[in-house]
Formats: sequence, structure tokens, C-alpha cells
Amino acid sequence: MATKTARPRRRQRPLGLAKKRTVRKHKQADPSGPTDEEFAALKTFKSARVLDAEGNEHEFSTDDDVLVVPSGKDPNTAHLLPDTENWVAKIRKIARRSDGEVWAKVEWYWSPQHVASIVKSFDLPSYAAYELFPDIDFQNYIPVESIVDTVKVIQYDDCDLEPPFIGPTTFFCRHVFRPKIKHVTPFSSKEVCSICQQPYNPDAAQRSPELLTMHFCPRETCQAAWHRQCLSTHPITKRPTCTDRKLSLLCSIPSVFLKSSVSPSASTSTSSPSLLSLLSKSEPAPPQSQPGTRKRRRLSEADALSLFGDLPPDLIQLASQPIVKPTFKPSGVGEEAPKRRKGKGKAPKEPRNVIHNVAGNITTVLKARVLINDVVRGITILPRDWRKKIGWDDDAIPSIIVDDDENDQCPPLLCPTCGEHI
Ligand SMILES: [Zn+2]
Ligand SMILES: [Zn+2]
Repeated sequence: MATKTARPRRRQRPLGLAKKRTVRKHKQADPSGPTDEEFAALKTFKSARVLDAEGNEHEFSTDDDVLVVPSGKDPNTAHLLPDTENWVAKIRKIARRSDGEVWAKVEWYWSPQHVASIVKSFDLPSYAAYELFPDIDFQNYIPVESIVDTVKVIQYDDCDLEPPFIGPTTFFCRHVFRPKIKHVTPFSSKEVCSICQQPYNPDAAQRSPELLTMHFCPRETCQAAWHRQCLSTHPITKRPTCTDRKLSLLCSIPSVFLKSSVSPSASTSTSSPSLLSLLSKSEPAPPQSQPGTRKRRRLSEADALSLFGDLPPDLIQLASQPIVKPTFKPSGVGEEAPKRRKGKGKAPKEPRNVIHNVAGNITTVLKARVLINDVVRGITILPRDWRKKIGWDDDAIPSIIVDDDENDQCPPLLCPTCGEHI
């Protein structure tokens, strides 16, 4: 059931409504708004339909994330502001007073600036302009006429293996904020790089990708990310490895994706030994070794390519990239600006070839690795629409790297936890 009111947020105010209100966020309840007791006694609705100045109807529902006119801003021009200059809230309940006034009970999202004003130790430069911090302790009431528009807010876990695309003007959150105890809690226990203890800041990485790109290790023992700068100075980088970098990367698949393909005899305690074992040929160990031992032969990229048979080279190229954020445009594709998602805010200025994607290329790269694994192991044949199947359609191309220059320039970084290529 929806309730209907008029929304004076466009160029003129509908007749019959009181002067537009702004919202007193967090500080004190709007004196003209309902108390908890009054609101609890009101008739509630799942949604509210409101009219803008042009007579267009907009519907806001419970659980919608919405932009709200902030204190001190002109409510009639708030929709022209960048999204980051409006406030953001989640509607929890909608109720109507007997006089027709419609109020929404909302939870607030705090901006990094608001959090920094409360928590003195909060390191503002570590967080992105479009990052938000849901306040799980506090709710209050706003008139629905103060709602500017609905907006998308994505919950993002730094260790999620299949995160959605999060562009430069998409709100996202990866922490909750409890202002009463001045505490910011990340969704993920591995939110920060364990070497420098700093989180990933997509805005800063956009400006300095050569230092602040983060490399993610998807193996079960790790599933965390480290800054390229931190990895390049870590002692682990001096350790020799026995596998080809691209092959090692291609075979790094968390076993959660391999349920249908891991043989009963294969170990499930580490990431994808099955595909690497399948592709690596063993040969007798040198004479000085213990009798009967064998060692894994270092498999060159050319050897691996021959084993992959007729698989498309670009699928193999995609699967053998490091899992990184941000990502990079393919060579020769990058003259135009990356596709923008919905949102009115200005995107940060981008150096050429870097894509502002909060989640990086993990989703598409892991899907490519799983597909190759399944084809090589005979579980499936390569579908004709394999690009679509792994999410590598036109929209997604800017969100992943298929750039051998970048790949080749990337130092041979190793995971500080498991010692494998990342
Ligand atoms: Zn670091
Ligand atoms: Zn690792």
C-alpha cells in the first residue's frame, strides 16, 4: 500500500504544502516531526508516492537508499548537487499523520568527513569520496518531501570473491559506524593490507596505480590483498618460485568454485592443485635426490598454451592476469573515458588506462579461471557465448584488465602468506 504526497524538490512548489524543510541530521530530532511514541501509533505504508514540480510521480519504498536534502541547502536545487553533497539514508518505515504529512523513519549513512568529525583517529585520506558508513545505532524521522531521489549503495566486502562492479560515482560501504562509541568496524577482517595496515582507497589508487594497486591472493589460506608498493619491498619477493607466473595465476582458483570438478583424491585444503597438477608434467628428480622422488618440471607459458588446445587466447590471457584493483584498459582501447554508471557527481580525474573500479577484476578473472579448469578437466565444453558467461560483455570490458603491457611491467610479486604468485 502506498501513500501519496507532493514533493516540492523541483523548480516550483506544489500548492498547499508548508515551506520546504531540511533535515537536522544526527544532532537533534526535527521538532515538527513525530516522537517514537507517535510514529509507532501511526498507520504505516510500504511506500510513498510523491509528485515533483512537473507533476511526475516518484515512489519511495521501505529499504530504499535515498538522497536527502542536507541542512542549509536549498531543497529546490538539491537534485542538481553532486550526490556526495546530499545526505544518504535508508528508509526503514513510512507513516502518515492524520493531517496528511508523511514521515519516513531512516537510518543514516555517514560520509568519511562526518566520521572524521567524530573520530579523531580516523584517517580521512584512506577512504573514497563515494564511501559511506551506515550508522546501525541511530534512526530518526524525515519528511518525505526532503527526499531528493533514490540512489544505489553497494555493500562491499574486501574479501568477496564475486563482488559487483562499483564505478567511480557509485556509493559503496565496507564498514559500519557506531558514533556513540566512536567505532568504525569493517565488514571484512582482512580489510587492510597486512604490511602497511592501510585499506584500499580507490581514489588514491587512481592517482598512483604504480604504488597503490592492490594484488589479491584468492587461495583459501590467504584471500586478502596487499599494495603493490608494500609487496615490492617485502622479503618474500626475493624467493625463487618453481612455476611460471602466468600459469600459477591461472591455476589459482578457490576450491569453493571447484566443487564439481575436484576429484575425490585431490586435496581440497589448498587452492586448485588439480588444474596445476594436470598441466604440470612430472619428471625424475636429479640423481643426487632420494631414489624414487620426482620433481615438478617448470612449465613454460608455451607448454601451457599447447595444453590448453583450442581455448581462445584472450580467455587464457584474461585468466592468467593478476587479480588487482584498480584495473587497466587494454592497450589501444583507452582513448575514450570509461563508461559511467548512474550518478550526478563528478568522477575523479583519471590517468590514462586506469579504470576506477572499487572491486577490481576479481569476479571476471576468477570466472575465466574456473571456465578453463572445467574445460581442461572435461567437465564442460567451451560455450559459444563464453564471454557473456563470465561477464566479459561490452559493459564489463572497462572493468577488467586485458593488457599484456601492464601484466609484463608488473613485478613478479608473491603472496606474503602462501609465497605463490599474485
Ligand atoms: Zn600496504
Ligand atoms: Zn596467498
